[in-house]
Amino acid sequence: MNVSRAMMTTAATAAIAVASAWPAIAQEGELNLYSSRHYDTDEQLYSDFTEQTGITINRIEGDADELMARMEAEGANSPADVFITVDTSRLHRASEAGLLQSVESEVLEERIPAQYQGEDNEWFGFSLRSRIIFYDKNDVENPPQTYAALADDAYEGMICIRSSTNTYNQTLLASIIENQGEEAAREWAQGVVENMARDPQGGDTDQLRGIVSGECDIAVSNTYYFARAIAEQVDGVSDGIDQIGWVFPNQDTTGAHMNLSGGGVAVNAPNRENAVAFLEYLASDSAQQYFAAGNNEYPAVADVETTEAVDQLGEFTADDVDLAAVAEHLATAQQIFNEVGWE
Ligand code: FE
Repeated sequence: MNVSRAMMTTAATAAIAVASAWPAIAQEGELNLYSSRHYDTDEQLYSDFTEQTGITINRIEGDADELMARMEAEGANSPADVFITVDTSRLHRASEAGLLQSVESEVLEERIPAQYQGEDNEWFGFSLRSRIIFYDKNDVENPPQTYAALADDAYEGMICIRSSTNTYNQTLLASIIENQGEEAAREWAQGVVENMARDPQGGDTDQLRGIVSGECDIAVSNTYYFARAIAEQVDGVSDGIDQIGWVFPNQDTTGAHMNLSGGGVAVNAPNRENAVAFLEYLASDSAQQYFAAGNNEYPAVADVETTEAVDQLGEFTADDVDLAAVAEHLATAQQIFNEVGWE
């Protein structure tokens, strides 16, 4: 499927018109799910699947790296059927380590845009987040409108962004390499380091906190951290949320950088058919809504409703670059970060 630049629609329109692609075929048996995702709404997701299919889900939860190490150690005897995690880089690593298998599914091909699928369909994205620019409305009159602008002299000493060990930054830089080439990516990373307000520290929420506390004028964060601070009380962010403005970058060029949560079928899945059925279920309208809402993300399937907090961010143009191609630059991205001294 060749999708032109995707518009993340936030209007609550389409759920009515689009019939669910999930065929309710009764199947027996079990499914062993290795997941590094844990949100309250996921409970509903799993029980709905069991109700529709009769397939019982056994969940093994843990840190993504722990789960991958476990699958590797278990080898051919691994009970893992499905592996779910966040960030393209982790899915890519699982795939490179030979932990996932290629899946042929008309449902997934049709529902999940091509740019959110692994090269040989060994993983699929089920929810999306954008990595965007936030700023202090009181202090920044002309916020950067592009990722490139974050490296401009005009923003010297103003930018807060987390460390280069973070997978979100690695995938962002890898996307800049894919879109603009290695040299431009190196110059960009160098420029951002020169513009930092402080040494990289903390998570994305801490960058937003930095705007409220006055330590940062500009911050880079995934959208869901900000949406979460709208939806619920997040210390140090929610109380100052009116002070925070945001920019979806590159709206006149590539569109805003996207990353994903997703999963694939384990290479030695003992319940392979059930595993494919589960991934197809995750691409259904209702499951899409739960899966994305659990973390205030955008559903990967077009026209599925988003949460109220996410709606407040407004519509934007998303970068439709192929994330499997982006992932090929992750090693180079890490090299560049080291070269320019991005801690
Ligand atoms: Fe996160």
